[in-house]
Amino acid sequence: MPLSTVKIEPAPWYNKFHTTVDVLRLDRIHPLISGNKWFKIRFYLEEALALRKTALLTFGGTYSNHILATAAVAREAGLHSIGLIRGGEGPVASPTLEEAAALGMKLYFTDRGAYREQTVPPAVYEAFEKASLYRIPEGGYGLPGARGAATILQNADSAPYTHIVAAAGTGTMLAGLSQAAAPHQKVVGISVLRGHHGLDAAVAALGARNVQTVHGYHCGGYAKKTPELLQFMNAFFTETGIPTDFVYTAKLFYAVDALFREGFFNKNDRLLVIHSGGLQGNRSLPKGTLIF
Ligand SMILES: *Cc1c(COP(=O)(O)O)cnc(C)c1O
Repeated sequence: MPLSTVKIEPAPWYNKFHTTVDVLRLDRIHPLISGNKWFKIRFYLEEALALRKTALLTFGGTYSNHILATAAVAREAGLHSIGLIRGGEGPVASPTLEEAAALGMKLYFTDRGAYREQTVPPAVYEAFEKASLYRIPEGGYGLPGARGAATILQNADSAPYTHIVAAAGTGTMLAGLSQAAAPHQKVVGISVLRGHHGLDAAVAALGARNVQTVHGYHCGGYAKKTPELLQFMNAFFTETGIPTDFVYTAKLFYAVDALFREGFFNKNDRLLVIHSGGLQGNRSLPKGTLIF
C-alpha cells in the first residue's frame, strides 16, 4: 500500500472557529482499498496467509467499502474472496458489487436474519473447502482489526493534537486509535448509526480507553441522509477540496462543525480528524446530487 501518500492537511472550513483543524487523508491510499479498511484488514490477511488459507470470506451491505476492499486485498494477495451480502431474498445490484465481482469475489445474498447471525450459507461450502476459508468479521471488528487500525497513526506525527476524531461504525477504528493515542489525547468517535447503544461496550471489549462517543449526528441512521448533509458535503468540498461520503465522513465533518458551535470543542483544542476514505455509498445517490 502506498502509505507515503498519507498526508495531514488543514481543513480551512473550521477557521471560522479561530482554530486550525487538520485532516489525515486516508482516502488517498488506494482507489479501492480505501481509508481505514486496509488498516483493519491487514492483520487478518497476515493470519490467513500464515494459516495457508486460500479464500477470504466476509460480510457487508450493497455499497460496503469493506466488501470492495476485501475483494481488492484478496485479489492482490492471490486469494479467492467470498462476500456474503445483506439483502432481501434475491440478488441485488450496485456498482460496488459489480466491481467486487469483477475483482473475482463470489457473492452470496443472505436475508437479514441469516446476515445478523453471520451464518455461512451451505452453497458456499459446496463451492469452497471449509478448511480453505478465512473469515473476517463484519467491518473487520475484532482484535486484529483494532491492532491494524492502531497503525493508522504511524503514518503521521499526531503528537501535537489534543483530540483525534473519527467516524464510528463497528468501533474497530476507534479502538485502534485509542491504542495508538498518547495518554494526553482524547479519541472522539462520531457514531453514524442511530441509537447505537452498544458502541461503547464494543469499543471497550477491544481494550480501548480514552474514547468518547458522540451520538447526535447520524442524520436519521446508518446510510440515511438529510438535505442539509448533502448541502454540507458540496459546500465543504468547494471550500476545502476534500470529498466526503454521506455514510461516514460527511457526518464526521458535519459533527465537528456542530461540536465547535455547541462548545464541545473550543479554539484551544487541536483536532486531528481522520478522513477514513470510503466513498462507495455516494454511488447510490442520483447523478448530480454531488458536485464531485
Ligand atoms: C468502515 C468505515 C468506517 C467505520 O469504521 P469502524 O471501524 O467500523 O468503526 C468509518 N469510515 C469509513 C469511510 C468507513 O468505510
